[in-house]
Amino acid sequence: MKKNLIAGNWKMNASLEANDALVRAVLAGMGAQGADAFATVAVCVPAPYLAQVRALQSGSPLELGAQDVSCHEQGAFTGEVSAAMLREFGVRFCIVGHSERRQYHGETDAVVAQKAKIALAHGITPIVCVGETLEEREAGRTEETVKRQMAAVIHVNGHCISEICVAYEPVWAIGTGRTATPEQAQEVHALLRRQLAAATAHAERVHILYGGSMNAANAAGLLAQGDIDGGLVGGASLKAADFLQIIASAGRAAG
Ligand code: PEP
Repeated sequence: MKKNLIAGNWKMNASLEANDALVRAVLAGMGAQGADAFATVAVCVPAPYLAQVRALQSGSPLELGAQDVSCHEQGAFTGEVSAAMLREFGVRFCIVGHSERRQYHGETDAVVAQKAKIALAHGITPIVCVGETLEEREAGRTEETVKRQMAAVIHVNGHCISEICVAYEPVWAIGTGRTATPEQAQEVHALLRRQLAAATAHAERVHILYGGSMNAANAAGLLAQGDIDGGLVGGASLKAADFLQIIASAGRAAG
C-alpha cells in the first residue's frame, strides 16, 4: 500500500527563527508518532530558506520541497531558480502550477507542463496543482477545467506521467476556510485518476493530494476517501500542532 504524502506549503511565510522552531517541532512530533511508517512528509519552503531547512531536516524522514521552478534550464532569466539549483539543495518535491502562480504570474497550462518536465528531468517530483475557480464550479465546468490542466501535463510528459504527484486544489477553497466536502473532492480525484489511467498503466501509483483549507479537523474525512492519497497544506502547515494532527490523520487513514 502506498503511503500518504502530506506536503506543507509555507507560501511566503517564513523567517530564520520561525523556521527553526517549526521544523524542530515537526521533527519531534513525527518521531513521537512514528510517522515515517505511514506517511511521507515534506515542507515546501521559500527558496532563500532551502539551505537552512536542509540543514535541519537532513538525515531525517522530513523531505524538502520548493514552491516553484523555472521552466528554463539556465541562463538570462533574472529572478528565476532552476531545477538543477533546487536539486543541489536536496529538494525532492516541487510545487508547480499553484493557482496563485497561475493567477498572479500568468502561468499557462503549457508553462506548468514544462515545469513538471524539467523537475522530473532533474530527479525532483513535481506536485502539479489543478483546480477550478468558484465561477467555473458554479458554471458546471469543474471537470472540463481540471481535465484541460491535466491534459497539458500528460501531453508534455508522456510515459513519465506516473512519476508526478497531482494536487487537486479548488481555487475557492484555498486560504478561504471553505473546504470541498470529502465527496466533492473524491469525485474530482476519481476523474483525475481515470484520466491518468488512460495515459499510463501505473495510474494507481500517482499520489493525488487534496489541497484547500485542509486542517486538523477535516483531514481525516478527506484522507479516508479512496482516491485521496494525501494533502497539500497551506495555512495549517505553519503551526506544528495542526500539521502534526494532519499527519496523524494520514496514519489513521492508512491503518
Ligand atoms: C495551498 O496554498 O496550497 C493551500 C492549500 O492553502 P490553504 O491550506 O491555506 O488553503
